[in-house]
Amino acid sequence: MMNATLDLKSDFPILAREIHGRPLAYLDNAATTQKPLCVIERVSNFYRTRNSNIHRGVHSLSEESSTLYEDARETVRAFIGAGDMREIVFTAGTTDAINLLARALGDCTTGGDAPFGDETRYSSDAQIGEGDEILVTGMEHHSNLLPWQDLCRRRGAVLRVLPLERNGTLHMEDISRRITSRTRLVAVTHVSNVTGIVNPVEELVRHAHDRGALVLVDGAQAVAHMPVDVASLDCDFYVFSGHKMFAENGIGVLYGKAARLEELPPARVGGGMVTSVTLESRREADLPLRFEAGTPNYPAAVSLAEAIRYLQRIGMQRIREHENTLHEYMREQLVKVGGLTVYGSAPEHSGSVAFNLDGIQPYDAGMIMDRMGVAVRTGTHCAEPLMRHFDINGCIRASLALYNDTDDIDRLAEAVRKAQSMLG
Ligand code: PMP
Repeated sequence: MMNATLDLKSDFPILAREIHGRPLAYLDNAATTQKPLCVIERVSNFYRTRNSNIHRGVHSLSEESSTLYEDARETVRAFIGAGDMREIVFTAGTTDAINLLARALGDCTTGGDAPFGDETRYSSDAQIGEGDEILVTGMEHHSNLLPWQDLCRRRGAVLRVLPLERNGTLHMEDISRRITSRTRLVAVTHVSNVTGIVNPVEELVRHAHDRGALVLVDGAQAVAHMPVDVASLDCDFYVFSGHKMFAENGIGVLYGKAARLEELPPARVGGGMVTSVTLESRREADLPLRFEAGTPNYPAAVSLAEAIRYLQRIGMQRIREHENTLHEYMREQLVKVGGLTVYGSAPEHSGSVAFNLDGIQPYDAGMIMDRMGVAVRTGTHCAEPLMRHFDINGCIRASLALYNDTDDIDRLAEAVRKAQSMLG
């Protein structure tokens, strides 16, 4: 046993629960994270003392809510190193953010013939159309694949795929050939939600920008686990979900460089995204509200700001080191158990380890592990192309967060042994 560097379980009330008479070892953090008491209390306190719809009232509660919502935007901005609050668009989550972007990049009429006044603000050059190419990778979550499939189908663009090596890493060797002058967008996950492989995002951004292509980074599995600085990544768009970083469900972020967002139409229209409206036309609000039609999930934005402050008090670098140590320990312990295959190996990992027990269905193993109080996820993890790459129907995924410790990993190893002895 090695010493864990962080000791945070007592901050998370749910981790004191027992499951089937055993203490909970929660290793399903890639699906969603648990919430610290400070976030739970923040949300409860918000509803007790501040709640009112934002941006639409002069009364005190509405002003207080609006201030907290915009403060949350500033907290997010600083957390990911964006230069400007206008670059932070609140969404319902990662999937919602990617769908919003896909619509704005390809599904909207721009310029000229529409009856509104604002379309001339947008650049039709920013739209993805016939013959253009979008490059995704073979390890994307369905949420970073399906919106691009749809956009290509609707607009006559072509979806290209950056293939994977046998070990699950991106095939980078001929990257300069794969990103061509026709490539308009590269959509890549920062960290695989299955193998935990960390992708060489900076390198991809450099190649893409050399060819004039934009880059969207799916940060759903990164932001809670490592320092993320969008300015140094230099990506054009970065998306993530609050619920995977200790905040409430129903809040997420689309970061976009201001110059890129400025040239995109709003994709969704309605209340809150305009400065004036007639029966025939509208004048749209500036960034970022132009992309936030309707009542946003402002209580969840407040929870996200609280979760970020929690992360900042601990320090993202410390979290990264703690999880690195645990990740290595987890892989070692699984190898020591034997009779299993771990999928994916790369110089850099974060969060998840994916594996299968020889001759045992992942679902069956997961059930036995649950009886031992160990929560892991089984199935395809919304990454069916990656399952096909590894030639499997599914797998077990154990995924870490900052509150996990070596005890959780020892419990995982014990549960795997139990599943092997009962099912093998
Ligand atoms: N991308 C990745 C890499 C993910 O892990 C997930 C969630 N599993 C998503 C996108 C989708 O996130 P959400 O369900 O919060 O929209």
